[in-house]
Amino acid sequence: MRSKYICGIRVDEIDRKSALKFAKQLLLNDTYNFKWITSINPEKCGRAMENEALRNTINGSIMTIPDGIGIVWAGRMNGLLLKHRIPGIDFAWNMIRLVHKYNLKLYLYGAKPESNQGAVARIEATMPGINIVGAIDGYREWNEVAADIADKKPDLLLIAMGGGKQEEFIWKYKDILPVKVAMGVGGSFDVWAGKVERAPRLWQAIGMEWFYRIAKEPFRIPRLKYGLRFMMCSMYQMLYNM
Ligand code: UDP
Repeated sequence: MRSKYICGIRVDEIDRKSALKFAKQLLLNDTYNFKWITSINPEKCGRAMENEALRNTINGSIMTIPDGIGIVWAGRMNGLLLKHRIPGIDFAWNMIRLVHKYNLKLYLYGAKPESNQGAVARIEATMPGINIVGAIDGYREWNEVAADIADKKPDLLLIAMGGGKQEEFIWKYKDILPVKVAMGVGGSFDVWAGKVERAPRLWQAIGMEWFYRIAKEPFRIPRLKYGLRFMMCSMYQMLYNM
């Protein structure tokens, strides 16, 4: 897989199909040596430019996936052949399908208790018989959660604590947790539980899901500065290398 460091952040050249194929290999191999996948958008990358721990977590991932349309643009501007965005929420759902298909173990960590339980219910209703070995909300003491994860030894660990926090958890426990693949999934449990609606398909198709989210949840407006910062920096990097 080809990668490029854009403003210090690793962007991988990957498409939906090969990303899932790679995730399948990771899930089916037999080592529980904690690899993690990070979905990146301009906001997260902008934050990572000034936060070394977040940057290390992104750059230390086994794969970064272009969750935001801005990452696709930034990648293309800097010579990567990125075909499309891969929304983290869809990618995580497809990994859950693999867990179901191959009878692996899933652990859901994060979100409010009702969202966490709602996500479990939705997954169980869609994929009967799936082996969910743990489900715990995102407002507990971290060491207590880590001990439970270690005890359950999941193949796939999804962490829904929002960009930043979930990466902090990953970085803190990566060397001690017996997990095959972990991934931070932001607000995905809220969506799966039916508490938050995703943008209509048309908005997603034209790469405006981010705008829909901001319009629905204006508290996200101040965070735009991070995304803008990353996009400007990507443009400078492209011009500098021309
Ligand atoms: N959350 C959590 N623990 C915390 C803070 C937040 O579990 O200490 C959860 C919160 O309940 C919500 C999610 O993290 O479900 C954050 O979702 P958001 O949409 O803000 O994340 P993003 O997709 O923007 O990264």
